[in-house]
Amino acid sequence: MAFESLTQKLNDIFKKLRGKGKLSEADVKQAMKEVRLALLEADVNFKVVKDLISKITERAIGQEVMESLTPAQQVIKIVNEELTSLMGSTQSKVDFSKEITIIMLVGLQGSGKTTTAGKLGKLLSKNGKKPLLVAADIYRPAAITQLKIVGEKVGLPVFTMGQQDPVDISKASVDYAKKHNHDVVIIDTAGRLHVDDDLMNELVNISHAVDPSEILLVVDSMTGQDAVNVAEEFNNRLQLTGLILTKLDGDSRGGAALSVKAVTGCPIKYVGMGEKLDDLEIFHPERMASRILG
Ligand code: GDP
Repeated sequence: MAFESLTQKLNDIFKKLRGKGKLSEADVKQAMKEVRLALLEADVNFKVVKDLISKITERAIGQEVMESLTPAQQVIKIVNEELTSLMGSTQSKVDFSKEITIIMLVGLQGSGKTTTAGKLGKLLSKNGKKPLLVAADIYRPAAITQLKIVGEKVGLPVFTMGQQDPVDISKASVDYAKKHNHDVVIIDTAGRLHVDDDLMNELVNISHAVDPSEILLVVDSMTGQDAVNVAEEFNNRLQLTGLILTKLDGDSRGGAALSVKAVTGCPIKYVGMGEKLDDLEIFHPERMASRILG
């Protein structure tokens, strides 16, 4: 599971604090030094760690904590609150205000985009929506086939036009959705091995053509700070409305989940928790913080 090592380290640090009873300023500062190291080892962005630790320390050496009967407990509560706030405080919801909600899924190859298209479609149809999946990754014929297979598994139709222009496919898919009473269109766009201009231009063109409610970047949490860099690059060109962090069931250290909102300003909206098409969850910052603290 993700965060395992971070959780273990934080638990050890807090156990020591609890053992002390009353806390001195030096105790808190020592603990924060250790928390800082644990976060850096979990691959959390350096600047994010610095800001976080200074916020926590400022609150933790305040009078309220020092004079409390359970100071260690108070420190843990502050850490929990600051981790929650770091990840966006509250759940960031998908914008369903338009008659048809167009969701563009973007991301690098291998991030889990196609699988996530199916998972998201399945989750939304469980909530009463009628999603249409759209195969707009035309460069790898296997990608179209893969989406068709995923669509079949989750019982959702897949709109394809073979290897035609992805902008045309996307526009046509919206017309098709209108005609066939779909209220959600999930566009699986092309992924590349690296962020490049062609990929970005194509995504910008699709977004201008269909004016999506959401542009969600699918990123692999296992890639740590690379995921954060990829998010920054995509966000510079596309104005992402959010992120889907995949493979959190793996042994990712947690750096991406903890840094990406602070670095890019984009909230995580969903997390992928496994290879099965049921394994997509709405992201709740407070629950994630509690999970990290174990
Ligand atoms: P794409 O190239 O971005 O479309 O990626 P795919 O959808 O083909 O996914 C790449 C691999 O990641 C596949 O083997 C998926 O089963 C796997 N995958 C996707 N999401 C998750 C996840 O949340 N957890 C795990 N463990 N594997 C995932």
